[in-house]
Amino acid sequence: MEIGGLQKLSLIDYPGKLACVVFLIGCNFRCPYCYNSNLVLPEKIKKQARIPEKEFFDFLKKREKILEGVVLGGGEPTTHNDLSDFIKKIKKLGYLVKLDTNGSNPEMLKKLISKKLIDYAAMDVKQNQKSKTKNQNDNVKFKKNKYEKAVGVKVNLKNIQKSVKIIKDSKIDYEFRTTIVPGIHAKEDIIQIAKEISPAKRYFLQNFKPKTTLDPKFEKIKPYSEECLLEIQKAVAPFFEVCQIRI
Ligand code: SF4
Repeated sequence: MEIGGLQKLSLIDYPGKLACVVFLIGCNFRCPYCYNSNLVLPEKIKKQARIPEKEFFDFLKKREKILEGVVLGGGEPTTHNDLSDFIKKIKKLGYLVKLDTNGSNPEMLKKLISKKLIDYAAMDVKQNQKSKTKNQNDNVKFKKNKYEKAVGVKVNLKNIQKSVKIIKDSKIDYEFRTTIVPGIHAKEDIIQIAKEISPAKRYFLQNFKPKTTLDPKFEKIKPYSEECLLEIQKAVAPFFEVCQIRI
């Protein structure tokens, strides 16, 4: 497994659990506002230091009595064919496993859930699937769906829909979440996302943080105000059992 980073302790990434976060290298999306371009862009991946698997598992063995869970983030963990073997080794040590995913690989998601390899799934819903936008710089009339604008590549939206359904139909704990980025999302977009994924247990609205982004233009974007997020939350909260803002 290609491990690009390890956060040894997190109190927030696995709800209710003390966990570490392991960052896996590689992603099939190119979200322009991504904070982890070192795990996404091939030219940066080449320069990214790796943590040997042995070092990671030695760490887990040492923390067995302190940590409860391991969060698999990235990058996109489901791009790794050896993910299930990697998780089996983590579970053998008694840890709970949370998977952070962009939902593009429903087959793997289904397999991991059916083999009881994940205990919590957090799926990023990047945009709604309905709206279309025109690329105005293009002479040829070119229609690009908003999801593709949000993730920077062509997307099979059926896979996204399937992942949402697999997660909701499963017995595992889960959340959906959207990082709300000005220029990508308006209030109406989030309301449409809510309609598409509801009814569901938990939906988190994450505020965009203009730190190092995959597309440097996004570093100049001013995030939505707390007031604005509260207004969005008020509009979508009725669709979910829990709907909260993460600043
Ligand atoms: S934000 Fe987008 S590009 Fe970055 S790791 Fe997540 S899915 Fe991949």
